[in-house]
Amino acid sequence: MERKLVSIQRIESLEPIVGADQIVKARVMGWDVVVKKAEFAVGDPCVFFEIDSVLPDGAPWAEFMRPRGFRVKTARLRGVLSQGLALPVAILPADAARPAPDVDLRDLLGVTKYEPELPDSREVAGPFPGAVPKTDEIRLQSALGVLDELRGQPFYVTTKCDGTSATYYRAPDGAFTACSRNWALAPGPNPVWRAAERHRLADALPPGFAIQGELCGPGIQRNRLGLTELALFVFSVHDVRAGRRLDHGELVAFADAHGLATVPIEEVVTGEPAASYPHSLEHWLERARGLYAGTTNRKEGIVVRPLTETLSPTLGGRLSFKVINNDFLLKDEA
Ligand code: ATP
Ligand code: MN
Repeated sequence: MERKLVSIQRIESLEPIVGADQIVKARVMGWDVVVKKAEFAVGDPCVFFEIDSVLPDGAPWAEFMRPRGFRVKTARLRGVLSQGLALPVAILPADAARPAPDVDLRDLLGVTKYEPELPDSREVAGPFPGAVPKTDEIRLQSALGVLDELRGQPFYVTTKCDGTSATYYRAPDGAFTACSRNWALAPGPNPVWRAAERHRLADALPPGFAIQGELCGPGIQRNRLGLTELALFVFSVHDVRAGRRLDHGELVAFADAHGLATVPIEEVVTGEPAASYPHSLEHWLERARGLYAGTTNRKEGIVVRPLTETLSPTLGGRLSFKVINNDFLLKDEA
């Protein structure tokens, strides 16, 4: 599910901030966000902008964000973490009907999403194959319902690798496509194709299968994993004809059989520990902190999935979510 960048949400709670008389801390969905005092009461609706919203240049209600380049980022104000922006519903166009909470208002308000990655225009060979879903992970704070869906089930935690997404697909007729996050790429010196050649994926992938992973290494993002050469870390395998993703155990076996690495598996939780696991937002935010193994670089976060692929009513798709390390958002994010 693509997250809603801008939506109508409810102020769940308000708390004073020690030493501040103009601002208070609000809770919206799973986010803590600092708001102007007296602007909201508990239960009020608000227009909530998630982090990475870029507000329009020209709207009076967005003018106060000009010094920050109009981009909503994680911030710390008076020691309080603030993630997102809550504004009164009065900023909505007067003639607009009150939108439902599941409607994304980004177009109505002229908001765009901050995208760190440049489109790889020169190398594009065609569209992303329709048979394979694009890679994406919802942020836990935007979909708290996933915790109840995971509760009691065996699950596993992987390290969120800070690289670039790659998808490799072998159609049932044997045709091979190598893709970046959004496009099929032409063969060339790009990392997507270099990894394909290194692992001979055009021949090694069974027809009808797609693998998805993160490419990391020198020259990709900041190489926070500290690698000396390009590496592919697989996080999903699709059996396209059967219309299913492989479960955790099958994925690990598939990767082994093809000489591929998976994303680092930090933890597999089964049995009693899974049955009684403390699935709270606070727990997971704490759990997401830490460094990339063998480095002094803060990791971007973790990705959590059930051992057996599960359909999530909250997400309207696969049950899986990311928890971003707040230390990383505050200190490392560009
Ligand atoms: P947002 O959805 O929060 O706006 P975004 O769409 O840029 O941000 P990312 O923060 O890049 O999403 O998170 C999703 C991506 O994380 C996936 O597309 C995948 O490429 C990458 N990723 C890295 N490590 C993993 C992992 N261990 N499991 C799953 N995906 C991973
Ligand atoms: Mn996304």
